[in-house]
Amino acid sequence: MNSLDNFLTDIESEEVSQEDREKFEKWLSKILADPEQISSKIEDALKQGMFSEWEKESVNHKFKLGSYYPSVIERCLRQQAYSYLYAEPPSPEELAIFNEGKAIHELVAFALRRSGIISVEGSEVVVDLIFNEEVKLHGRIDDLLLIRLSEESNNFKLFVPLEIKSASVMPDEPWRTHYYQLSTYLLAENYPMGVLLYWIKREGKVKAFPITKDDTMRAVLRERVLELHEALKNGTFPMKEAASNKDYLQCERCSYIDRCNPYLIDSIPKGSKLSVFDLDGTILDTSQRKRTILQELGLPPSAKTTDIHDEETNRKYWQLMDNPNYVELDNLYDQAREKVFSEAKLGRIPVAISSGRRETLLEATKARLANLGVPLFHLILREAGNYETDGKFKTKWSQRLASNYELVEFFDRDAVLSSMIMKTVKERQAKT
Ligand code: SF4
Repeated sequence: MNSLDNFLTDIESEEVSQEDREKFEKWLSKILADPEQISSKIEDALKQGMFSEWEKESVNHKFKLGSYYPSVIERCLRQQAYSYLYAEPPSPEELAIFNEGKAIHELVAFALRRSGIISVEGSEVVVDLIFNEEVKLHGRIDDLLLIRLSEESNNFKLFVPLEIKSASVMPDEPWRTHYYQLSTYLLAENYPMGVLLYWIKREGKVKAFPITKDDTMRAVLRERVLELHEALKNGTFPMKEAASNKDYLQCERCSYIDRCNPYLIDSIPKGSKLSVFDLDGTILDTSQRKRTILQELGLPPSAKTTDIHDEETNRKYWQLMDNPNYVELDNLYDQAREKVFSEAKLGRIPVAISSGRRETLLEATKARLANLGVPLFHLILREAGNYETDGKFKTKWSQRLASNYELVEFFDRDAVLSSMIMKTVKERQAKT
């Protein structure tokens, strides 16, 4: 009996018996009646192959206390600790990114070799940046290049580590996490410079950023590694760094978000009932602050921000609005204090949110509220780099709060927004 492979290749051959030919035709018609069994087989094979490649690589990444990865050392310390202690198999997306990165790396090394201009002296070159007898950063340089240049009849050569990163958009400058990684390699082997090469898949663009060795980075890296190491050695966890720096974008992308629970407020026990107030719409009236600032800029106090067309004046206006010294001009809306007290009397913890007030005003705002006698337990202000709309900012935070607390009321100047927020919160709470 011929094997299936032989059927596929030899079916046209004279030697195939009529009986075997008929068997094959019968089998083929079954396949063609359900051709997806072939395409899904290819998909499965690809997934299996990509996973095997990742598994092979991850053998090199078994966690050893004291040996940490330069590729993630800039990331949230708590996240790093989780990734060492609770390493999880990659998601399909992570698997695809890993394999794509590997393929691009191989392509770049191949193309550089073909160029005849640069020699690739090694790939996956192991490097250790040692801090003390028990702690080091341990990584692998994608490619170690040797560049030969001639000047005034002298021939010079330079070893240059190359790190290759694939991305969906070209950054204006290297990402900080990649800078930390390459800096580790430069410091470990005393290379004067290295190159970060970004490969932009969608646009087919490539850009190489030179990075020179920065000796001050040794102390930065050392401090991070030692903090991580001390925590792990003592069986504890380092701080929730991203959450305490209000880098919630990092939290949103973190695989360990459920384990970490970064939105639990330390001072408010889980399960408490909360009433949320729109700070600048229902508690603090900012009109006096705005009028004063407009006057200082030589504008009529009744002017609206949309009336400020001069770029420089506009910039100054927002700079002064973000200046803590002016917060003492904020006043209370009518009945604001009473509303907060009455929620507290009902056993609800009053917290406030503002999408218009920046984190830099946190302490000044707390002080102003204390002066005005308003007992708000917690303030959520807009963190740097967050450009969400007012509605999105408040809705997102309500969902975050609802993951730990019973959100009973949301008081907003915009009644429609407030009822939409409560609707989505209730839907979420009903699901859990
Ligand atoms: S959820 Fe945020 S704070 Fe927690 S580990 Fe992840 S990045 Fe760090």
